[in-house]
Amino acid sequence: MAKELPPPAVMFNLIAGRWVSQLVFVAAKLELADHLKHGSRTVEELATAAEVHAPALYRVLRALASFGVFAETKDKRFKLTPLAVTLQKAVPGSLHAVALLFEDKFSRDPWAELLHGVKTGEIPFLTAHGVSPFEYLEKHPETLKIFGEAMTSVSSMENPAIAAAYQFSGIRTVVDAGGGHGSLLGAILKANPKLKGVLFDQPSVISRAKQDRYVTHKGISGRCTLESGDFFEAVPKNGDAYMMKRVLHDWNDERCTKILANCCAAMRENGRVLVIDSVVAPGNDPDRGKLLDIQMLVIGGRERTKREFATLFSKAGLKLTRVIPTKCPLSIVEGVRA
Ligand code: SAH
Repeated sequence: MAKELPPPAVMFNLIAGRWVSQLVFVAAKLELADHLKHGSRTVEELATAAEVHAPALYRVLRALASFGVFAETKDKRFKLTPLAVTLQKAVPGSLHAVALLFEDKFSRDPWAELLHGVKTGEIPFLTAHGVSPFEYLEKHPETLKIFGEAMTSVSSMENPAIAAAYQFSGIRTVVDAGGGHGSLLGAILKANPKLKGVLFDQPSVISRAKQDRYVTHKGISGRCTLESGDFFEAVPKNGDAYMMKRVLHDWNDERCTKILANCCAAMRENGRVLVIDSVVAPGNDPDRGKLLDIQMLVIGGRERTKREFATLFSKAGLKLTRVIPTKCPLSIVEGVRA
């Protein structure tokens, strides 16, 4: 157990975390988990399939296997493990795109500016790239594709928990603002056969979503419309509920207030907003939200406490009604007109 190691050994492992994530990136980039999906292979076979240097690949796999990612059987033959399977491209909840995204120039260069950001309060993403993350993605279609896939992967682990945690009865139309490729909206429409949905995002994302399967499913497509635009300008009108999952954490308080105020202006009389994000808990317990908050610091956003959400809501003319926990690390923060 890590806790039983002496502090220097624990710290060494924390410091070397970067080496491990780099190994995982190499495995993802070379699609090693997919190359092993029909059974174990020797390093030479794998190296031929991935077009790489066999002796170096062996050392990478041996190191990964020491963390439970792949396992060496005998004679330099490797097989999948449950951890390795998560790097396959087509499995539900695949983390393949996430592994690529975190090591993409998009993420890597801004993280290298974290120290500068802490010293100066500047946004590391801007220091590294000179534009905001979503402007960068608009200009880099390859990264946008990986980003979209990574969001969908993470979402597919969360969607069932979110759809189960909220009662949509009594709601006619739900708008998913910044809904990405629509996997959450698709899951909610599936679970609520009378509900109508509007998927709203930037034009480039909506054009990708149109090719994706989530909102084009039989039984859903007739109840779901896709609209593109800019949520700082306006969001689609006359919804009963405005969901925003992993959206507000991308932005500072001022920008979030604008998005929320636009939802408040667009929604029906008894409308509500459903902000789905990490809600940072007090205390020192492990909390993935606190680490994600640093990714958000890097891009200029933040994860928030319940109190911080309540303040944001009140600035936008809303009142926080409740925070509903889900069986995933995100909570649903509900608000109505104040
Ligand atoms: N809700 C999805 C996506 C979260 S990522 C999920 O949980 O998987 C944030 C989303 O906000 C992206 O899809 C991005 O394209 C969208 N977005 C960013 N700026 C926007 C803007 N100005 N108007 C509309 N959508 C925007």
